[in-house]
Amino acid sequence: MWDSVLLTKRDRVATVTMNRPEALNAQDRQLLEELMEAFEQASADDEVRVIILAGAGESFSAGHDLGSERSRAAAATRPRRPGAQGIMEYEEEMYLEWCLKLRDLPKPTVAQVQGYCIIGGWMIASACDLIVAADDALFTDRAARWAAPSGEFNTYVYDLGARKAKELLFTGDYVPAEELYRLGMVNKVVPRDRLEDETFAYASRIAITDPFLLKLAKRSVNEVVDAMGFRSALRTQHYLHLMTHAHYAIPGTELPVPRLEGETPSEWARRRDALYGEKPPLKPQRAAV
Ligand code: ZN
Repeated sequence: MWDSVLLTKRDRVATVTMNRPEALNAQDRQLLEELMEAFEQASADDEVRVIILAGAGESFSAGHDLGSERSRAAAATRPRRPGAQGIMEYEEEMYLEWCLKLRDLPKPTVAQVQGYCIIGGWMIASACDLIVAADDALFTDRAARWAAPSGEFNTYVYDLGARKAKELLFTGDYVPAEELYRLGMVNKVVPRDRLEDETFAYASRIAITDPFLLKLAKRSVNEVVDAMGFRSALRTQHYLHLMTHAHYAIPGTELPVPRLEGETPSEWARRRDALYGEKPPLKPQRAAV
């Protein structure tokens, strides 16, 4: 039905899988649109009580697709309006509103995270109600190493607390699953080879509960978080992010680490990350058991 997304059902649990492993499940417009269709379909299915969000392959998601052939072709057929207006329309719809829609689905959602979970990956994981992570999962938002204060859906104060959120955004360091478990961002850490089974068992236990009560329980928590300013803070943060897109588009500005002549995108990223003492290639490491 879709090119980049799979929807499967087992008992009362649906699993929506990003299926673009060759690109580490990088999110382009097509993947995000298909993902939302799959979520809406699972949400409308009366047999489904809980929805898992998974990523096929080594990693959950490396974030936004910043230049694959497919995303370039899509941008050519559905061009944005010029200037900051076009960027704002696209990012508001595809990132901010998209994540809020996922967060507001009437059924519990569980992100099942392994390997890399970078910026856009963290955004969609954090829009889920619960997170089960493999012991090899590495989360980060390294937008500030590139050219933005954070990703487009910045939940870090809610997920980590203010001080850790600042450290994350100031450095862009990876945060392992075990540390996020201690901070309360991740609900459960399991061995990588048990991830699918453990997530399904976790979701199945939740699915015992009456769906109407699940819907109201979810809303009861989200309403409190909204009353604490979640929605308006996320909007403000989104516009701060957009401000930097406009800033770096103005002649006379330079990216913090400008790309050198002839440098490939990965060489550029490696040189930038080396400034922070990060040695490539950083493969997700499994915790010693
Ligand atoms: Zn952006």
